[in-house]
Amino acid sequence: MTTLLEVSGVSVTFDGFRAINNLSIQVAEPELRAVIGPNGAGKTTFMDIVTGKTRPDEGRVVWGEKNISLLGMSESAIARAGIGRKFQKPTVFEEQTVRENLRLALKNKRGPLDVLLYRRSAEGAARIEELASEIGLADDLPRRAGDLSHGQKQWLEIGMLLAQDPRLLLVDEPAAGMTPTEREHTTDILKRAAQTRAVVVIEHDMEFVRRLGCKVTVLHEGSVLAEGSLDHVTQNKEVIDVYLGR
Ligand code: ADP
Repeated sequence: MTTLLEVSGVSVTFDGFRAINNLSIQVAEPELRAVIGPNGAGKTTFMDIVTGKTRPDEGRVVWGEKNISLLGMSESAIARAGIGRKFQKPTVFEEQTVRENLRLALKNKRGPLDVLLYRRSAEGAARIEELASEIGLADDLPRRAGDLSHGQKQWLEIGMLLAQDPRLLLVDEPAAGMTPTEREHTTDILKRAAQTRAVVVIEHDMEFVRRLGCKVTVLHEGSVLAEGSLDHVTQNKEVIDVYLGR
């Protein structure tokens, strides 16, 4: 495991309010990580910083073996560098089939024309089948995406992100609004995705985090309050106090 993303000493101030305060987080490759913390802890802003949506006032955000600074890079350049992000609400092309959605998302490392050819190639078709089975939608490829359940749309969107082959996938509350069975399937998808890449998940549901069985980072007031296994962090007195609102 090597460090893929290193956020160090980062701070963000919104109208005089320090939303992120000297935050340092390292993510390895591969790794599955859960980021938890009460509302307003800075979880979303952390992801906004990594994806280039929010510029920190100070600190470093360094990426990959060449230690490239992500600060100053545009959101699209950061996405091209290999960072994918899934927001809470699924965004799929409702009128298209599952297969078309995956096909449109398919990317490879070659140039733009090659990508178009790849999408229509046997290799591309095989990759679509593989992705569909990874997200549990192998039997749903001909279905219209708009007809999928909420959970299935979330999985399809994860599949569309995986189709772009990110090195780091940031996922915001993937299990929100899902049934217990769907949640279980979502943990399987994320665990599997994290075997070959870094996956960072913001999550509120502790049962879901427990099932992920990964290292947990607890944010509070824009800083890391605790880090380690879920059992480790939930025994931390400061974490207990924060969650009980003391
Ligand atoms: P979380 O995702 O952990 O709930 P956020 O990162 O959304 O927390 O927010 C951290 C803090 O920063 C909150 O107090 C929030 O109100 C504030 N904040 C986030 N974005 C902005 C913004 N664009 N302008 C002003 N305040 C913001």
